[in-house]
Amino acid sequence: MEANMIECRNLTFEYSATSDESLKKLAINGVDLDIKEGEFLVVLGHNGSGKSTLAKHMNALLLPTSGKVYVSGMDTADENYLWKIRNAAGMVFQNPDNQLVATIVEDDVAFGPENIGIKPEEIRTRVEEALKKVDMYEYKNHAPHLLSGGQKQRVAIAGILAMSPKCIIFDEPTAMLDPSGRKEVVNTIKDINKNYGITIVLITHYMEEAVEADRVIIMDEGKVIKEGTPVQIFSDVSTMKKVGLDVPQVTELAYELKKSGINIDTDILTINEMVSRLCQLK
Ligand code: ADP
Ligand code: MG
Repeated sequence: MEANMIECRNLTFEYSATSDESLKKLAINGVDLDIKEGEFLVVLGHNGSGKSTLAKHMNALLLPTSGKVYVSGMDTADENYLWKIRNAAGMVFQNPDNQLVATIVEDDVAFGPENIGIKPEEIRTRVEEALKKVDMYEYKNHAPHLLSGGQKQRVAIAGILAMSPKCIIFDEPTAMLDPSGRKEVVNTIKDINKNYGITIVLITHYMEEAVEADRVIIMDEGKVIKEGTPVQIFSDVSTMKKVGLDVPQVTELAYELKKSGINIDTDILTINEMVSRLCQLK
């Protein structure tokens, strides 16, 4: 049986306790979640549903108000594990500019390993491999601020890869990118999952990115209200609409056709599937 990369047990989190009871709100409200090693999990949910708060628990940036989070079996509330947890589970955020620290790409990627005292020889190897994995090796001597958004995000990913993580948590990594930058970054994420076995937690608003996942969870008001494969999640168009989320356009089209009395299922995620289903109707 595959081991769990991340486990949340009845996780509850409340931002700084206030005496005003009406302001007291649980950002995370009793989440139980197992993420398997090597899994590609997508987290969906409208703004304020608790996605970023949940993500920050996965590498001990936040600690539970109650309940437990384990990363590779290590309790995030145990200070002795802090650095091991941060090395095992890296995070990539929305704005690449806030994550790049050096004036040359390779120095930027080397920053993390240098900070944990890796030997220079080993750092050089790690930086080279990490830049190759995100297909940015030929930019190693470039200035990060001159790169495109997608390239900057890939350098940020290389910086995490240089730490040899088992898991990377992405909090809306494509939200500030143009469509081509989004595609570059999503392809990189898929690649490091499939080819290097790194566990992926991807928070996104883009349904076409969620279609790539092994499993999707939906958050609403600090709770996980639904989980399943992309097909299971998106074919439930009414739940998606109820929590204020879009579904892929072809899935919505199938839903509307069905409502209009056409004999078609809503488990359709791609244009090709739609075409073949419509052809079967003849
Ligand atoms: P999401 O990432 O899904 O948009 P968040 O995890 O950022 O959701 O927020 C969950 C809830 O916690 C929201 O009600 C939000 O207003 C609140 N919240 C988020 N960050 C803070 C903070 N630093 N201080 C107080 N409340 C916060
Ligand atoms: Mg967020």
